[in-house]
Amino acid sequence: MLFNELVRVFDELSKTSKRIEMANILSAFFKKLPCDELGFIVLLCMGKIFPHNSEKEMGIANNLMAEAIALASGSTKETVKKQWNIYGDIGETAKKFMKSKKQSSLVNEELSINELKNVLQKIPGTSGKGSSAIKLKLVSKLLSMTTPLGAMYLTRILIGSMRTGVGQGVVRDALAKSFNAEPSNIETAYNLCADYSKVAKNLCENPELIKNPKISIFNPINMMLFLKADSIGKAFERVGKPARIEIKYDGLRAQVHKDGEKIMIFTRNLDSITAQFPDAVSAIKKSVNATKIIFECEIVGFSPGMNKPLPFQYLSKRIKRKYDIEKSAKEIPVKLFCFDLLLLESKEYLNEKFIDRHEALKKSINENEAVMLAKGITTSNESDAEKLFNEGIKEQEGVMFKSLIANYKAGSRVGYGVKLKTHMKELDLVITEAFFGKGRRKDWFGSYTLSCINLDNEEFLTIGKLGTGFSDEQLKEMNELVKKAIIKEESDKVILKPKIVVEVEYEEIQKSPTYKSGYALRFPRLLRIRHDKTPKEASDLEMIKELKG
Ligand code: AMP
Repeated sequence: MLFNELVRVFDELSKTSKRIEMANILSAFFKKLPCDELGFIVLLCMGKIFPHNSEKEMGIANNLMAEAIALASGSTKETVKKQWNIYGDIGETAKKFMKSKKQSSLVNEELSINELKNVLQKIPGTSGKGSSAIKLKLVSKLLSMTTPLGAMYLTRILIGSMRTGVGQGVVRDALAKSFNAEPSNIETAYNLCADYSKVAKNLCENPELIKNPKISIFNPINMMLFLKADSIGKAFERVGKPARIEIKYDGLRAQVHKDGEKIMIFTRNLDSITAQFPDAVSAIKKSVNATKIIFECEIVGFSPGMNKPLPFQYLSKRIKRKYDIEKSAKEIPVKLFCFDLLLLESKEYLNEKFIDRHEALKKSINENEAVMLAKGITTSNESDAEKLFNEGIKEQEGVMFKSLIANYKAGSRVGYGVKLKTHMKELDLVITEAFFGKGRRKDWFGSYTLSCINLDNEEFLTIGKLGTGFSDEQLKEMNELVKKAIIKEESDKVILKPKIVVEVEYEEIQKSPTYKSGYALRFPRLLRIRHDKTPKEASDLEMIKELKG
C-alpha cells in the first residue's frame, strides 16, 4: 500500500465531521488492506504512530520540524517559521513549501506505508548527541518522498497535531463494519489490551476470536473507573446493600502483572513503572503466593519509618525518577493496598462477582507490613459506613463503596464502585491553553484555560480559567509541561495539545455563555497535576451538568 492512498483517505475524511460518514469511509478502506498493514494504518488514521501504551515517543520539536521542511523544500528555517506563524498550522505550511519546491513529482508518489513505518520506528531510538541531526535527515527524507498534500498530513502526524476527528469510537465502528463484528466486542477487546492496532490485526486475521477476547499477561488492561457519590445514602443506593466499603488511599493506582519471577507494574495510563519501584517488586515477590496473577492496588508513599502516610505529591516524585532510584525508594518507601483481582493462574476474573474476586485475592496474598488488602468492611449499616468514612477522611482520602455482585468492566466509568471523599467539589480538567504573564513575567505562563471532555465526540470544551493554587514548584512544572504541548502561538496565549490533566477545586458551577461547555467554574484552584490520568479520564460534560443540578 502506498502512503498516497492513505492521503486520499485523509482528504476524504477532512470533508466531513459526521462520525458515521467517517466510519463508512474508513471501513471501505480497511477492507482493502492486508492484515499486517492494517494495524499501523489504524493508528495513523487516529493521528498516532505508536499505540497509547507504548513508551516510544517521536520527540520532534517545532524547531526541528521547521528545519526539516526547510531542508526538504530548499528553503530556510526562518522563512518556514514565519509562514507557520501566519498559517498557524504546520501542515498547511509544509504543503506550501513542498509545492513550491522545483522538482519532478514522479518519485514523490512512491512512499509506501511499510517504508514510512520503518523510518518512523527509527526516530524514537535516536537520542543523545547528534540525534537531532539524524532525526532531521529522516524527517526531511520522508517529506521529500511524498506529495505536498502527503507532507501536510505527515507533518501533522509527526508533531502530534493531526485533526482528522477519527477517535476510538469511529475506529471501533469502522472495524465492526469491515469485519462484520459487534462494536461492543471490539470495544471489549480494546479494553483488554488498550491498543487498536493490535485489535485490528487480530480481527483481520481471525474475526471469530473477537467474540471471546482474552487477557494477555504483561499487556495492561484499561482500568475500571468509579463514579462519585456525595453521601453515604447515595453511595449505598448506587451499589446496593450490603456493600464492601474500603478506605480510599491517597496514592497511585497500579495494576500488577506477575508470571513466575517476572513482575511488571502499570499505572492508570498503562505506563510501566516497574523500573521506578524495585522495592514494590520485591515486596510483591515476598507476599504474593500465586504464580500467575493480575491484581490492582494503591501504592502509597510513607515516611522512612513506614508509619506515616505521605501525600501523593511525594510519591509522584518517584514516578518520574530515572536515576537514584534506590535512594528515593529509601526516602519514600511504599506500601501496597490491594483491592481487585483480574486473573489468577489460568482463570480470568473479569466476569466474576467482586465478592469472589476479593475472596480469591485474599487467598493469593500473605499480608505483611508492605503488602496488604485495602482495609474495609462488608455492611448494610449506615453508621458502620460512617465510622469507616470518618477514619478514611482522617487518615487518607475517603472511602470507596463497591457492589458485591458486579463484575469488572475494563475501561469504563461504571457505578460498580463509587468514591466518597472529603472535598466534594473537585474536578479533573484538561489544560487546553496557557496565557503569557504580564510585565516581568512575560516569559512565563501564569494562567491556563481549563476544559472538560464531551465523551460523545471526545471534544474538549472550555469551562474556566485557572490562575491560583500553584506552589512555585508546580508553576515551574506546568511551564515545562506547557512548552512540550504547544500547537500554536497567538498574541497573548498558546494553544495546547490536550495532554495535561489537573485536579482543581472550586466554589461553584455556573451557567455561562463565555465558555464552550456552557458552564463556568467560580474560583477554581489547583490541587495537583494528575500525571496518572489521561485527558480522556477528565471530568465529562454530563458529570458537570449533574453537579450543577
Ligand atoms: P479518583 O482518582 O478520585 O478518580 O478515585 C479513584 C481512585 O481511587 C482509583 O483509581 C484508585 O487509584 C484509588 N483508590 C484508593 N483506594 C482504593 C480502593 N480501596 N479501591 C479502589 N480504588 C482505590
